[in-house]
Amino acid sequence: MAKLSVDDLDLKNKKVLVRVDFNVPLTENLEVSDDTRIRAALPTIKRILDSSGTAILMSHLGRPKGKVVESMRLAPVVKRLSQLLEREVKYMTDCIGDVVEDTVNQLQNGEVLLLENLRFYKEEEANDPGFAQKLARLGDVYVNDAFGTAHRAHASTEGVAKYFKQCAAGYLMEKELRYLGEALENPQRPFVAILGGAKISGKIDVIENLLNKVDALLIGGGMTYTFLKANGIEIGNSLLEADKIQLAKDVATKIATQKINFALPVDHIVATKVADDAEFKTTEGQEIPAGWSAVDIGPKTIDQFRVVLKNARTVVWNGPMGVFEIEKFAQGTVEVAKMLAGISEQGAITVVGGGDSVAALAKAGVTDKITHVSTGGGASLEFLGGLKLPGVEVLTDK
Ligand code: AMP
Repeated sequence: MAKLSVDDLDLKNKKVLVRVDFNVPLTENLEVSDDTRIRAALPTIKRILDSSGTAILMSHLGRPKGKVVESMRLAPVVKRLSQLLEREVKYMTDCIGDVVEDTVNQLQNGEVLLLENLRFYKEEEANDPGFAQKLARLGDVYVNDAFGTAHRAHASTEGVAKYFKQCAAGYLMEKELRYLGEALENPQRPFVAILGGAKISGKIDVIENLLNKVDALLIGGGMTYTFLKANGIEIGNSLLEADKIQLAKDVATKIATQKINFALPVDHIVATKVADDAEFKTTEGQEIPAGWSAVDIGPKTIDQFRVVLKNARTVVWNGPMGVFEIEKFAQGTVEVAKMLAGISEQGAITVVGGGDSVAALAKAGVTDKITHVSTGGGASLEFLGGLKLPGVEVLTDK
């Protein structure tokens, strides 16, 4: 069901309470070191201001765990946002209460105000109804543009919505739902998913949900080795989730009944240890010699993945193919990033989520070529896993 968009709202003379994701990294001197998330919210904020509405923005930053932590105040964000918007951004050092309400009531159309870090109150993550109601007093309509926290039922993402007649998705939220939603519900085929990262356990919902939807599932990264072990293949000292071997066997059995191409790596880069100064080599086949750990997919696997990806029309990627933080074990991940960039240029729809995969795109210098880079790692995984996101569910149906 499509959700109300910020475009569907009459914003004139309205106080618009907007949940944004300004959970940005700060330097030691408390300067914003990466403003990507602030920039991502600008279209929604500008739309409100251009429509003669007032924007009251709220966000969390870091994990203050229900207490005021000076280094987690949103003051640095106010400064950066004000530069990006080229106008004054008012700032409250609290997010609820009489003073905040009075200040909000005095705002003029076209003004912007940022509330203090929501997580200074433990009630935020506890989704406390009283706290949610106090937040709700600050707006006439509610907009959620924080896809990255939409999988959490917190006061500012879920509880607050109950006090509004109209709750809409901001542009960023809309874009996330459109690309991820279309990939899952109505993909151009062939539809290929690439999953990597450390563990099966973090992605089993995604694997199971995607099995019913994709034409091919390419597996890399640490989760590979539990699958190989389940197939009776020697994995040396590679990452193993011993308690997930049965799960891996069950998945393999399920796949055998479906017409999907389930591709596990056919060769690997193996190392004496997972470290910069490790000795390393390429294996001939799937077996990993005793005493060695697999740290990346090998060249034959890269070629195989290339063949599958060449014809793909829709690709979803989450999780690195190896320990890409170490330069010499990053090749598989970087090559996948480049392959996605290549097919995007030929018109395929590519959707990348998860902090590591997004970092790998930057490392490969191809971020701009990808159709949609998801801002929410956890939220995009839950969405791909077929779970309902509480912050999306509460938005008003169109
Ligand atoms: P995740 O958060 O589950 O997506 O896992 C990301 C992490 O998986 C990264 O820090 C990678 O270094 C790690 N990783 C990927 N491949 C391997 C591997 N073969 N062995 C150990 N760790 C890996």
